[in-house]
Amino acid sequence: MCLTCVLPMLLPAAPTPFPTAAPDAGWAGREVGGRITWTGCAGFLLEVDGTRICFDPYASNPGVRDTLFRPARPNQALITETFGKVDAIFVGHTHFDHAMDVAPLALASGCVVHGSATTTEICRRQGVDRLHTVADGTKVEIGPFTVEAIASRHGKVPVAGRIDVLELSGTGMPRTVFRWPRGQVFAYRVEVGGLAIHLQTSAGIEDAPLARQEPVDVLIACLAARQGTDRYFQRLGEQLRPKVIVPCHHDNFFRPLSEPPRPVARLDWPAFLDDVAALSDAYGTRLVQLPRGVPAPL
Ligand SMILES: [Zn+2]
Ligand SMILES: [Zn+2]
Repeated sequence: MCLTCVLPMLLPAAPTPFPTAAPDAGWAGREVGGRITWTGCAGFLLEVDGTRICFDPYASNPGVRDTLFRPARPNQALITETFGKVDAIFVGHTHFDHAMDVAPLALASGCVVHGSATTTEICRRQGVDRLHTVADGTKVEIGPFTVEAIASRHGKVPVAGRIDVLELSGTGMPRTVFRWPRGQVFAYRVEVGGLAIHLQTSAGIEDAPLARQEPVDVLIACLAARQGTDRYFQRLGEQLRPKVIVPCHHDNFFRPLSEPPRPVARLDWPAFLDDVAALSDAYGTRLVQLPRGVPAPL
């Protein structure tokens, strides 16, 4: 057998986008005795000391036809099954794949929704009255968690970006799922038990708010539509110097959660692995992948 045939067998297999097993305890470099679940798209559920907070909860995945032609019809049973009862909800922006399940979850949980003025207004129109509009630098304490809002930007989506709705108009709800407005975009920094996590739930960057940030243990980074943001991972890496990077928003969010995840459009996974390798060379960053819907130790 020649060297060309043997070498690939000796090298470890490159990671695939959607593993099914959770990483071992201690993956973040520090254990806080909690759990974290990637729930699909940009959704995360964090649980520590009995307090449960979530980011961009989204389980209803209505499919392309209903997204284009029907108003949002959240799947309450699936939302409850996916998130249970939570103590707070934080929203990165108001597009449907980040926000259409927020109001039903908030009403079922009786918790506060934290997000942009657009997010809180669209929740108010759905009957939620526990609302907190955040601004850049706003800090919120929930049990053991401290969460800071960081003004950010949306990734550039080809074609769809040109017909994107930016703000909520009128008095009622958007006519179709696709017409849910973007509103202001936020990233979030979470600190809990000495662990710092940065959630970049959309792939744009606002330079000055990012420049304010201290290094983090874990960078959770949106992969969808990152190609339009110049030096996306390099800029995040230079400022945050993450010990670990966790990808998110890399699954096709039109497909139901009951089916195995498929890549989002233009995922370009090999290019992501190249970016991770560059972060690893520069800062020793390790890639950790969370399986969708499976709690991992935190
Ligand atoms: Zn969006
Ligand atoms: Zn999105």
